[in-house]
Amino acid sequence: MKRKLRVLFASSEAVPFIKTGGLGDVAGSLPKALNATGEAEVRVILPKYKDIPEEYKDQMSHVCDFYMMLGWRHVYCGIETLEYQGVQYYFVDNEYYFKRDGAYGYFDDGERIAFFAKAVCEFIQYVDFKPDIMHCNDWHTALSTVFLREFYQNMEDYKNIRTLFTVHNLKFQGQMSDAVLGDILGLAGNEAAANQLRSDRVSINFMKGALCYSDLLSTVSETYAREIQTPFFGENMDGIYRRRKDALYGIMNGLDQEQYDPETNENLPAHFSANDMSGKAECKAALQRELGLEVNDQIPLFTMCGRLTQQKGLDLVEHVLDEFLQLPVQFAVVGTGDKKYEDMFRNFETRYPGKVCAYIKFDEKLAHRLYAGGDFFLMPSLFEPCGLSQMMAMRYGNLPIVRETGGLRDSVQPFNKYTGEGTGFSFSNYNAHEMLFVMKDALGVYYDNKEALNQLRYQAMTRDFSWNVAAGKYMNIYRRLHPEIESPVAVETAPAKKAAAKKSTTKKTKKKTAEKKGKK
Ligand code: ADP
Repeated sequence: MKRKLRVLFASSEAVPFIKTGGLGDVAGSLPKALNATGEAEVRVILPKYKDIPEEYKDQMSHVCDFYMMLGWRHVYCGIETLEYQGVQYYFVDNEYYFKRDGAYGYFDDGERIAFFAKAVCEFIQYVDFKPDIMHCNDWHTALSTVFLREFYQNMEDYKNIRTLFTVHNLKFQGQMSDAVLGDILGLAGNEAAANQLRSDRVSINFMKGALCYSDLLSTVSETYAREIQTPFFGENMDGIYRRRKDALYGIMNGLDQEQYDPETNENLPAHFSANDMSGKAECKAALQRELGLEVNDQIPLFTMCGRLTQQKGLDLVEHVLDEFLQLPVQFAVVGTGDKKYEDMFRNFETRYPGKVCAYIKFDEKLAHRLYAGGDFFLMPSLFEPCGLSQMMAMRYGNLPIVRETGGLRDSVQPFNKYTGEGTGFSFSNYNAHEMLFVMKDALGVYYDNKEALNQLRYQAMTRDFSWNVAAGKYMNIYRRLHPEIESPVAVETAPAKKAAAKKSTTKKTKKKTAEKKGKK
C-alpha cells in the first residue's frame, strides 16, 4: 500500500504558540520539514494555554468536545484547530487546567499533564485524522504511550498505532507520588503497568513509562544517545536505555536557517555572508559599542549566550577566566540563570571594565547581535543533549569552542591545523585548563593565521544545519514502525530495508553527507 504516513506529533510546546525551551523550537519546525518530504502528513497536538497569543486564538475553530475519565474524574475536553504554515495544529482545551499563566510550575502539574496525555489518545476517535504513528515528546506526553496500550489499543481506530518517544531533556521526568497511579492514571491494580511506571517503591515516573511502553525511542543527537546509556548521563534511566539500545536512535536537531541568516536578519546592524564577510566587522564594532567594550577590531571577542546553570560548564569558566583575561582579549556574556553565576560574571565585569561585559537579561535580539559580532563562542557544557546556540554561532561565523559531549560533539568539527578542516574548536575532558589551552589555541589562530581563521569561518557558515537532514532520519524511523505502508514518493533505498538496518543506515547517511560536502 502506497500512501503518506499519518503522524500525530504530541508536544506540550510549539513555536509560535508557546515556548519555554528547545522543545518548542523543535515542535515548531520538525513537523513542517516532515510534511515537506511528501512522505508524511504530520499534525501537531498541544494544550491550549492561556499564554498563546490572541492572534492565534482568534484563528482557531472548534472541532469537537467530549467528556473523558481521568482516574475517578469525569472531565471536559474541547478540541480546537488551526492551520499554520501548512501544518494542522490541534489544541486541547480545558480552562480549569490550562487557563493559567505560563505552562508549568503548578502544584497539580501531574494531573494537568496526565489530562493532556490522555486527551491526545481520546480525541482520535472523534476526528477524521486516524494516525499510524503517535510521536510523543518529553515527559508531558510520555503517558500517552501508556494510555494507548492500556485503554485504547483494542479499539478499531487505535489498533495499528505505533509509538515513538523522543527525549529532549532527560532531567525532567515527571516524578509523582505513588497515589497518582490510581487517583489520576486509573491504573490501580494493574501490576504490570505499575512495575513499568514505578521508578522506586514510592513514586511514579511518567517518563519511565514511555521508555518502557514506546515501540521506538530517540533523543536529539547521536552522541547523547550513547551517553544516556551510562550512569553519569542517564539520570537513572541508563539501565532501560541499555536494555533497549536497539530501539534507540540519536537524531541531531536542525536550525531554522531562515531565521538565523546573517544576510537577512533584521536585528543586525549590517549583513554578511560566507562569501562576503565585510559586514561582520561592522557588527563587531556595533556590539562592542553597545556592550561598553573598547571598540577595536584587532582584539578577539569571546562570547557566551545561554542559561547560566551548572550544565553549561560555567565552573570551568570561573576557574580560568582571570588567567585568560590577562591576554589581549574581550569577553561578553548574555544570559540569565543561577544567581551564583550571574554574580560571578557581574564581578568579572566590575574588575575588567571595557574588557568584560555581563549582560544578565533575556534578550533575543541582542543574542542575534552577539552571535553575529563575536569571534569565538564558548560552550563548555557538562552535558548537552543537542544544543542550538553553537549552531547559531556557526551560522554567524562565530567559531564555537565546545566540550566534546552530546550534540556539541556531533555538530562542531574541531580545527585541524594540518589540513585546515573544521568549524570550531573542542576539548574532551571536563577540565578548566584543557579548555583554557584550546581557548589559547583559538587566540593563536586569530592573531597569527588569518587565512585559517577565514577558512574556518567559511566552513562553519556553510555547514548544513537545515531540518531536512533530521526529517529524513525521522522518516526512516517512521518507516521502521510501518514497513507495510510504502512511500508515495520515490526514495533512494527501499525504506523498510533501510530502516530495519539502523547501523548501516547511519553509516550510509554519514557517507552520503560526506560525499555531498566533498562535491560542494
Ligand atoms: P538549552 O535548550 O539547554 O537552554 P540551547 O543552546 O539548545 O540550550 O538553546 C538556548 C536558546 O536560548 C538559544 O536560542 C539561545 O540563543 C537562547 N538564549 C538563552 N539565554 C538567552 C538570553 N539570556 N537572551 C537571549 N537568548 C537566550
